[in-house]
Amino acid sequence: MTMAFEYDSPGNDVGALRRAIANKLVFAVGKDPLDAQPKDWLNATFLAVRDRLVERWMRTSRAQASQDARRVYYLSMEFLIGRALSNALLSLDLYDTVKEALDDLGVNLDDITGSEPDAALGNGGLGRLAACFMDSLATLALPGMGYGIRYDYGMFKQCIIGGQQVETPDYWLSALNVWEFPRDEVHFRVCFGGRLETVNGKTRWVDAQDVRATAYDYIIPGHGNGAANTLRLWSARASREINLSKFNQGDYFAAVEDKNHSENVSRVLYPDDSTFSGKELRLRQEYFFVSASLQDILNRFRRDHETLGMLPEKIAIHLNDTHPVLAIPELMRLLIDEHNLDWDTAWDYTQRIFSYTNHTLMSEALETWPVEMLGRLLPRHLQIVFEINECFLKEVAAGGHDAGFIRRVSLIDEHGERKVRMAWLAVLASHKVNGVSELHSELMKQSIFADFYLLYPERFTNVTNGITPRRWLAQANRPLAKLVDRTIGQSWRTRLDDLGELAMQVDYPQFVAEFRAAKMANKERLSNYVAQTMGGYIDPNALFDVQVKRIHEYKRQLLNVLHVITRYNRILKNPEADWVPRVVIFAGKAASAYKMAKTIIHLINDVALKINTDPRVGNLLKVVFIPNYRVSLAEIIIPAADLSEQISTAGLEASGTGNMKFALNGALTIGTWDGANIEIAEAVGLDNIFIFGNRADEVERLHREGYNPRALYEANPELHEALTQLATGYFTPEDPERYRLVYDALVNWGDHYQLLADYADYVATQDKVDALWRQPELWTQKAIRNMAAMGRFSSDRTIGEYADRIWRTSPIKL
Ligand SMILES: *Cc1c(COP(=O)(O)O)cnc(C)c1O
Repeated sequence: MTMAFEYDSPGNDVGALRRAIANKLVFAVGKDPLDAQPKDWLNATFLAVRDRLVERWMRTSRAQASQDARRVYYLSMEFLIGRALSNALLSLDLYDTVKEALDDLGVNLDDITGSEPDAALGNGGLGRLAACFMDSLATLALPGMGYGIRYDYGMFKQCIIGGQQVETPDYWLSALNVWEFPRDEVHFRVCFGGRLETVNGKTRWVDAQDVRATAYDYIIPGHGNGAANTLRLWSARASREINLSKFNQGDYFAAVEDKNHSENVSRVLYPDDSTFSGKELRLRQEYFFVSASLQDILNRFRRDHETLGMLPEKIAIHLNDTHPVLAIPELMRLLIDEHNLDWDTAWDYTQRIFSYTNHTLMSEALETWPVEMLGRLLPRHLQIVFEINECFLKEVAAGGHDAGFIRRVSLIDEHGERKVRMAWLAVLASHKVNGVSELHSELMKQSIFADFYLLYPERFTNVTNGITPRRWLAQANRPLAKLVDRTIGQSWRTRLDDLGELAMQVDYPQFVAEFRAAKMANKERLSNYVAQTMGGYIDPNALFDVQVKRIHEYKRQLLNVLHVITRYNRILKNPEADWVPRVVIFAGKAASAYKMAKTIIHLINDVALKINTDPRVGNLLKVVFIPNYRVSLAEIIIPAADLSEQISTAGLEASGTGNMKFALNGALTIGTWDGANIEIAEAVGLDNIFIFGNRADEVERLHREGYNPRALYEANPELHEALTQLATGYFTPEDPERYRLVYDALVNWGDHYQLLADYADYVATQDKVDALWRQPELWTQKAIRNMAAMGRFSSDRTIGEYADRIWRTSPIKL
């Protein structure tokens, strides 16, 4: 560095920030303050805040390089980040300062943060987990980095028209994306197609088409620790801008067509949650980001090391589900074909580098790619997978296993069209495989991976998911966060266990009252949001009963609807009784091709319309479906919840993280003995949670031995009434057949998710919820006990476990 290189470290007082924002507005955004729109102020503020992160960012990456720490690379197809500005302000402890600076300029901070688009590069829980993990990696100063895809279009925007979901594209980049750093100089060729050639016993991949992966970097601020990590997302660029020969022949459209075609690979996020979509473009996306990431990782390593000898000591690569599993044959290919390692060394390195998280046991989610498609798109990778499989099966046979076992563990499913089993490949090539809650990790060993567990028991482990308390309490729930700060100090932001100190506050009426007041403020905020965006009034004094998450049959929004209908019928039969007024709130997106999920949304809205307009019901029961569920909406809804609905069929929700967000924000859970609900119940105590329904073993037994939903339907009069109303068009007299298939699925076609088996217990447990609500002191005390017990569910604890037990890396010194 020459002495001439000098720059001004940005100041952090109100005056400095006021000048900085004004400078950015004029010189970077190019707007006269008299004409500036909220978006312009947003961008100016963004740029000013970003300046305050860049120094930390550079210091962190220098420290990572100079300390030569073992780096973790987290590969994920999805990062559901949400908004960045308030998060960055809180990490820098500049929220109040910037608010004051903007006040001086006549601008309201909350107005402009509300105009920031969500970065919605994910579907639901899996993508949000990756975002929480990025936050914790940075906050723990771990030398880690995320890799993913910079989709032009993220998760679609959901509108509700005539009660039905309508999808519109989310072009989130349309707003000047001041948060990203385009790195035009960081790019890699990613090849598809072509064929293999053998020259002097060496395989070469030739005649392939290529696209260019270009890097975009995002700063991930650590909380209050001076660290900032990088999330690097890849965007596809055509390797040649236009086809010049076609252009010169005068065919302009054909000339740009090729370009558009190859750039499609990072165009749009697949909107499927927990289901596998075997589309060729999806396979291209998976390979595209994995190949670019691995080339980048090896490049960085080679810059700092003479040989590859230390590679497995210095890097760890984590696979978030099977979507990035092509990283395994890609690393083998790069090590062997490009870096001249022999097979055995390459395989040894690979197994020491990779670890893998399984996210679901449901068969419809398991990725298997046709051998034909893989061979056509990635011939070299298919060859490597075959070779890995051959070595592996030889070993298994030598171990004395029979043909049936060998067929089951083979990486290739030979049944019908031949397919590569990506989860098998992940387990085989990883030194650690983890599930995401205690129950899920157990079931994983007993079900899908039972054969691999027999072969490699030491590989399997559990790391229960977590959530970042920075976004999900400090940022989303300022009234409650302030109360907690006043009571026990601010340390909980990075040591969530400290919330345990709140448990004793249940005996202090002052604290209990303030806790209730914070909840009320959040309920009023949500009520205002509903009034402004949808019209209609929901009374914040009612019990807010909330189920927000992707719409999926296994999550059983339909069971919730059955309770709503039952409650409605009961009110009509006895309108004068002393009912607990409830507002039942739903939100969530359905995958665009998932018919039943879309029907469930339609049903919720039809039921809502009927109930909300029935004068006999008045304010005793309201049903609201809030459109376009996403991170920024979750931040408004979750702090306002009294009751958290976590009612999946036991054994099917791997962990859930929504359940943790609610409990942290002082909602009580009504839930099944599933996923992390179990660990939440153990943490808060069974007195402080409403557990109901069959457990996973019973679900499995009914599944195996046969189960008769029709008998339940006929035996329970309230269930009979509710289902008959669905079948006969009680809620939609203009279209009486609309929900006939829903009825059939439950009563006649086996009720795959066993709603009817849990119905009676669910409704009885909802009665207990009402009973507790009538004792507001006791309710609030239990809510406080929930919050106080959430320490374990910080993603800092989760990431700490990954770092110690799986990645074996430690924090850098800053
Ligand atoms: C936390 C979160 C999820 C996951 O919720 P679950 O209830 O665990 O399924 C999905 N979407 C968004 C926007 C979230 O914030």
